[in-house]
Amino acid sequence: MKRILITGGAGFLGSHLSERLLAEGHEVLCLDNFFTGSKDNIRHLLGNPHFECIRHDIINPIYLEVDQIYNLACPASPVHYQANPIKTIKTNVMGAINALGLAKRVKARILQASTSEVYGDPEIHPQTEAYWGRVNPIGIRSCYDEGKRAAECLMMDYHRQNGVDIKIARIFNTYGPRMAVSDGRVVSNFVIQALRGEAITIYGDGSQTRSFCYVDDLLEGLIRLMNSPSDFTGPVNIGNPVEFTILELAQRLIRMTGSASQLVYRPLPQDDPVQRKPDIALARKVLDWEPQVPLERGLEKTIAYFQQVI
Ligand code: NAD
Ligand code: UDP
Repeated sequence: MKRILITGGAGFLGSHLSERLLAEGHEVLCLDNFFTGSKDNIRHLLGNPHFECIRHDIINPIYLEVDQIYNLACPASPVHYQANPIKTIKTNVMGAINALGLAKRVKARILQASTSEVYGDPEIHPQTEAYWGRVNPIGIRSCYDEGKRAAECLMMDYHRQNGVDIKIARIFNTYGPRMAVSDGRVVSNFVIQALRGEAITIYGDGSQTRSFCYVDDLLEGLIRLMNSPSDFTGPVNIGNPVEFTILELAQRLIRMTGSASQLVYRPLPQDDPVQRKPDIALARKVLDWEPQVPLERGLEKTIAYFQQVI
């Protein structure tokens, strides 16, 4: 039994991860400032004697005794990370420094939730970990993209300079139950719009691509990475390599929900990547991991969830 800190533990991924780690018999400390996370996501865990929730902002240092740290604190949706971009980059940079400082002090292993956004608008397709990316350093996505790149840099420097035991996961678009209704990312937006019979908002012409990973698959990859041999630091891509256009996603959701929603086209946000698909050869080789849940099945579960909450 380990004592495990999850920063951002009340968010979409963090709350599912809390559940998984408790079910494996660990003690979980969930740290969150509740910016995009919610007590509703973890309410069912609050009575568990092995679960503790701490209201704290990771831009401030924290002193705890833990064995492992999953550093997930950071808004993940463009709508939310662009609402207060200075706070977003502070969360990424100061949050990584504080989480790494804690890991160094207590000799905990730390996993950084990085992102496919470190590849920016990629010229290499699919993206391998060796690709350095094409990120606009001064655009409206930079607070997130560059923040995550700085967090990766900090992880590697604490590892090289101080011997901190680190893991870097480059997470690709992940979806599933418990995404916030106000999240703004494409899967939750489209499912909610389809269920409400509202217009489905396609940004641009819908020809841009993403590769969607179901939350359970993603967490399996993260946990395998956390518990991989210490000479493997990553970065490693964790995502589903099956690629879809945004238009295909909309059409599929209309079919699956039997919705009468129409498609409406809105301007493509600045620096919105044209294509994205992970090369997961490294995860397959080192973690013996690959996604198991096809899009159709993951979407069924996500639709069922949103039918309950909206
Ligand atoms: P989310 O917004 O649901 O969760 C983020 C959590 O972090 C929320 O509970 C929020 O309240 C908390 N948080 C934000 N700023 C904080 C701060 N300063 N101090 C303490 N807590 C703070 O998003 P998510 O989808 O669960 O993403 C979790 C992590 O995974 C993020 O770091 C994100 O960048 C990364 N990631 C997610 C995806 C994805 O598709 N879901 C893709 C790539 C990377
Ligand atoms: N998108 C869209 N309609 C929406 C929300 C998003 O067409 O209501 C598009 C968005 O422009 C992007 C893709 O869907 O091309 C994925 O967007 P999301 O915000 O989910 O994630 P990210 O851009 O970070 O991959």
